[in-house]
Amino acid sequence: MLPPIASNFVAGESQEAALEYVEQLNERGIGGILNLLGEHYEGYDEPIADTDAYVELLDGIERRDLDACISVKPSQLGVDVSDSLFERNFARIVDASDTFVWLDMEDHTTTDVTLDCFERHAGETDGNVGVCVQANLHRTGEDLQRLAELPGKVRLVKGAYNEPAEISYTDDATVDAVYRDTLEYMFREFEDGIAVGTHDPEMIDHARSLYDEYGTPYEIQMLMGVRESAQFDLVEETEADVYQYIPYGTKWLSYFYRRLRERKKNVSFAARAIVGS
Ligand code: FAD
Repeated sequence: MLPPIASNFVAGESQEAALEYVEQLNERGIGGILNLLGEHYEGYDEPIADTDAYVELLDGIERRDLDACISVKPSQLGVDVSDSLFERNFARIVDASDTFVWLDMEDHTTTDVTLDCFERHAGETDGNVGVCVQANLHRTGEDLQRLAELPGKVRLVKGAYNEPAEISYTDDATVDAVYRDTLEYMFREFEDGIAVGTHDPEMIDHARSLYDEYGTPYEIQMLMGVRESAQFDLVEETEADVYQYIPYGTKWLSYFYRRLRERKKNVSFAARAIVGS
């Protein structure tokens, strides 16, 4: 069972708990991006089972008429097994409903297959899919020139994976500078809208001034449990649509530890909760 401390970052183990959580979030003006936890599968069974679960989830989103979409990881849908398994599973998910589907971006070995898959479905669904790109990769500027020509949405993040120095920026200051420049490029070139995936107040302020300059519609996306009061403030204070990325499912343990390791404050918060003070 999900311990109370983990429920700060994970909406529950079941689909119903996740949908319930989104319903409450919607009442406060924030949309949900649901992600069933699971990644790097080596066989066929788990990717197919998670695809089935997503198809069921999409039905739940429609039944409850939620302001929600989903975000899936290529390795959850089987890209480590074969590109075609991933593509088949992704197509099943996209074809199952009219709900918007995001593709998370994993490490650089899967960037090409992820972008190709996005491109195909962006065309076929008239833009009802999105893809994430990472400011820390050297290639992203070029990838964005290709993506700017396509329908669909793009989420810019700093990048969560430790990539080789030959293909990535590895110091935080450079990644921040590239993120700023890339955001400006996107506000200028992606007239239909973009998604800003960050908790960084400086990047959010930058996005807000770029919106004032270019008027491009934008979403601010943050993780469940991270700077939540800021998320609610942004609903009131900005023209942006605010979305929360919401993981759920039984495979929550490693995700939870990742969130804790990210910030010392989270660790002490968890420690206090565990000792009950
Ligand atoms: P950081 O550079 O980590 O921090 C900058 C500043 O933000 C901090 O100094 C602090 O002021 C504030 N801050 C950050 N975290 C916290 C916190 N926990 N509590 C309080 N303040 C904080 N990465 C991928 O590689 N692929 C993906 O598909 C992907 N999808 C994502 C989707 C969403 C919605 C989000 C929010 C992130 C996603 N990421 C993804 C992760 C991303 O790449 C970064 O690793 C992660 O967001 C941390 O970078 P940051 O921009 O939030 O800020």
